[in-house]
Amino acid sequence: MNRLSDIPGIGPKTLDNLRKVGINTIDDLIHFYPRKYSIIMRSDMSNINNGDKVTIDGIVEAVPTIINIPKRKLKMIIFRISNNRNIYNICAFNLVYLCKELRSGSKVTIIGRYNKIKNTIEANEVRMGLLPNEPIIESKYHSITGISGNSINKFIVNVLDSDYELIDFIPSDICNKYNFIEKRYALRELHNPSSIISYKRALQRSKYEELFMYLFKINYFKYKINNDDKAISRKFKKSDVFKFIDNLSFKLTSDQLKCVEDIMLDLKSNKRMNRLIQGDVGSGKTIVAMISAYINYLSGYQTALMVPTEILANQHFEEASKLFKRYKINICLLTSSINKKDKISLYKKISNGEIDLIIGTQSLIQEKLIYNNLGLIITDEQHRFGVNQRNDLKNKGIHPDVLSMSATPIPRTYALSLYGDMDVSSIKTKPVGRKEVITNAIKDSDIKSLLSSMKKEMDKGHQIYVIAPMISEDDEESINNVIKLEEKFKIAFKSLYKIESVHGKLKPIEKNKIMSRFENGETNILISTTVIEVGVNVPNASMIVIFNANLFGLSTLHQLRGRVGRGNIQSYCVLVAHELNDRLKMLEKCNDGFEISEYDFLHRGEGDLFGVKQSGDAVLRLANIRKDYSLLLRVKEDVDKFISNNWNNDDFIKLSNYCNNIDLLD
Ligand code: ADP
Ligand code: MG
Repeated sequence: MNRLSDIPGIGPKTLDNLRKVGINTIDDLIHFYPRKYSIIMRSDMSNINNGDKVTIDGIVEAVPTIINIPKRKLKMIIFRISNNRNIYNICAFNLVYLCKELRSGSKVTIIGRYNKIKNTIEANEVRMGLLPNEPIIESKYHSITGISGNSINKFIVNVLDSDYELIDFIPSDICNKYNFIEKRYALRELHNPSSIISYKRALQRSKYEELFMYLFKINYFKYKINNDDKAISRKFKKSDVFKFIDNLSFKLTSDQLKCVEDIMLDLKSNKRMNRLIQGDVGSGKTIVAMISAYINYLSGYQTALMVPTEILANQHFEEASKLFKRYKINICLLTSSINKKDKISLYKKISNGEIDLIIGTQSLIQEKLIYNNLGLIITDEQHRFGVNQRNDLKNKGIHPDVLSMSATPIPRTYALSLYGDMDVSSIKTKPVGRKEVITNAIKDSDIKSLLSSMKKEMDKGHQIYVIAPMISEDDEESINNVIKLEEKFKIAFKSLYKIESVHGKLKPIEKNKIMSRFENGETNILISTTVIEVGVNVPNASMIVIFNANLFGLSTLHQLRGRVGRGNIQSYCVLVAHELNDRLKMLEKCNDGFEISEYDFLHRGEGDLFGVKQSGDAVLRLANIRKDYSLLLRVKEDVDKFISNNWNNDDFIKLSNYCNNIDLLD
């Protein structure tokens, strides 16, 4: 048994349905765990209140009667059962087909709700036969079109009963240490628990394995990076770097300087750099990126700066052009809206080394693009990139250094375990002179006061962002929301102010035009979905209004808020929601991204926060980094010990083979 189609009962149609939910291999299938379990056991009827859910078995007293309820287009069956000398009335909707089996004297089990006054159980389920004395634990799976949970379970049992080889990734020493049960047995228990106790043992073991593989992978890659003999050790004069820094129009904050120092050390060393700069929105990460590009240029290598959106690419390009005007460094912008002819000529200039700094979007990983000597890759807002994209880019250079920027700070306690393969520098101090953004959460019925405070800001000559709720990228409905809001504001403000909107359906050229009109101060209000979430910098914007704020995660709201308060004017953030909840109130009080992410982490779980799920580099189906944090710490200790003691034993080779198949890096 090797492929899904080898399992009895799986034909082309089922195969197709499985694929749709991401089950492509037998391994995927057996790790498709139940969504929940229900425990079925006999209720103690002497201890039941009116309206309670009950499970009861007994003997059918007489053949059911069928009653038509034409109004509700329903058929109801009613019958009676006896149980322990008590009689209960049973009624059930839409179970008419059961009448054939329900004869006087049949044994049945009823699951439903008990109406004590009428001594009637309204049955959700009627099963033939009596209950066993032991509780039954039943698995409930996420629904898959065309395949019942029972069939899924049967397929899995079939695999576990066959000779299909299961690879246990927990090293044997560790299995012994914790007295872990066998993997095949654990999988059986997860899919068909025989008792709660053995289910728990199976769960613990399987969570351990997931976390072990996860942390092994991170540490393994870190080891590989640190032992990469192809990394470049740079030669540059520190004094040249500081000359550049002295010529900036502002003084770097101490945290920015520390980052630059970290990066210089990384670049000088003969280890490959893999560093994450994390800092709140507006903390000044871009300049650190630019300085790194400059250092890389001084040492004779090309830099690629990749950002998630075209708007951001334009903005970085403009900033870089200003910054490097007096220096010999050649810069180009490479995005999908550049025409073919220009693109070809740019490709040529890049491949023959005429260009030193390439700024762009995904275009930077186009297959046709060949770099001359790519030494450094910088990704801005790195959590927006999938792992694969980052790797495509890495594969372009020989073995370039990597610098990532993220505005989603990670709570200190978790950074280590999540980004264990990266070194992390943090920017916590904000540039001097910044005023804190004042945040107000208001109900959407309070729109009048909103309009008047918007007017006040615009009369001061300031600009405003408005965020319409986005359901999903490219979603018709989201675009409608944007357009509807634009119309509403146009009516409210008459033609006193200029209002424009950007959304996913616009061509990049159109979008850029609208953005640059906003940047130049020609537009008063810019309405959009979250496209401006990442990185846009318009210091004259003093207010951001976010509609349906309760639909966004805290970190996202905080990022959006970071679009204002970037100059030295007092700025405002208005969160509009139907209901004001604790999360929105937390944002009113707190302006610190690190604190906010910690709060988010505690209240929402890690998924939204770290992009772990979307990036696909985690295989955590059962374990949860937040809920199983103490287990994670124990596993981390075990992994560290294992990696330092066990190079080249069989268990290690098994794990590293697995990692190399995933191939995150080289
Ligand atoms: P982010 O970390 O969100 O990417 P940016 O790099 O866009 O933030 O910086 C926000 C603004 O702050 C920019 O206008 C930038 O020029 C300015 N800035 C950055 N560092 C400093 C500093 N040390 N002093 C004053 N202004 C700074
Ligand atoms: Mg930025």
